[in-house]
Amino acid sequence: MDIRNGFVGTVGNTPLIKLKAASERTGCTILGKAEFLNPGGSVKDRAALAIIQDAEDAGRLRPGGVIVEGTAGNTGIGLALVGNARGYRTVIVIPETQSQEKKDMLRLCGADLRQVPAVPYRDPGNYVHVSQRIAEELAKTEPNGAIWANQFDNTANRDGHYRTTGPEIWEQTDGKVDGFICSVGTGGTLCGTAMALKERNRDIVIGLADPMGSAIYNHFAHGELKAEGGSITEGIGQGRITRNLEGAPVDEPFQVTDSEMLPIVFDLLRHEGLCLGGSTGINVMGAIKLAEKLGPGHTIVTILCDGGTRYQSKLFNPVFLKEKGLPVPEWLDDGDAA
Ligand code: PMP
Repeated sequence: MDIRNGFVGTVGNTPLIKLKAASERTGCTILGKAEFLNPGGSVKDRAALAIIQDAEDAGRLRPGGVIVEGTAGNTGIGLALVGNARGYRTVIVIPETQSQEKKDMLRLCGADLRQVPAVPYRDPGNYVHVSQRIAEELAKTEPNGAIWANQFDNTANRDGHYRTTGPEIWEQTDGKVDGFICSVGTGGTLCGTAMALKERNRDIVIGLADPMGSAIYNHFAHGELKAEGGSITEGIGQGRITRNLEGAPVDEPFQVTDSEMLPIVFDLLRHEGLCLGGSTGINVMGAIKLAEKLGPGHTIVTILCDGGTRYQSKLFNPVFLKEKGLPVPEWLDDGDAA
């Protein structure tokens, strides 16, 4: 018998998928950890579950309590669904610029969704700070209490990846993995997975795939937190060293532009049948760059973070893409859009 116990029992143990075009192009074996197959549809189910379990274990989260979080969407979806399965209410604060698809999903999950303007972290109106204040208020008034998930600086997030994602990759490859690379939102996936892999073999090369507009590439490449440009990707890019990113053993940082990312996303869908989001495109392009650096014959693992339908109105919308001067999926382009 092979039976998983509800939502929570279905998080993790995702397959590793060999990516054909990326592997052929580089002469390496490029593998994607299929995190979009988690029951809530993204890599963030792992963080949501780890954060909730940690709060339960510490006695901070009590039955019937409220979970509050600031999120680009996926962590909120994971928290809402774990919350539904375990009897917690969720209040989710999201920058209004995030995709309509993720907001709709949060509402249908039953989350109390609060949209705020997208302002920098240093602004008190930033979604992260707003979520902290709401959690502090609700902790005083809710009969069963409230917690702030705090995915950026709560290291239960990266511990979850350290305990699950890293060891899974090691076992699924029989330890024959030469490189691991992904992008950073909170840093939980990169740092937790990298720490677990380095502990098993410190020669495994850890790469960072950073979108434009993020300061993390410059931090690891040049020692200064400096951002340039921007990206249409969601859930990744960071302007500070979060607690989950502290001590991340990054060997090879790369920057990936949206113009590099989009053809990867389009080709994965049209030629490999994998409908994936923008951060996955950044990750796969980063894996190609790392493979080119290491040379043929290596095995490189990256993360397939979530599905493309979560961004249909952006990534696969010729009007939106043309407005930004970005590549358009030719099979969707009717040629009329401005
Ligand atoms: N991709 C997507 C689509 C995400 O939502 C996130 C999380 N915000 C990430 C990648 C990055 O993961 P992490 O927070 O673990 O760095």
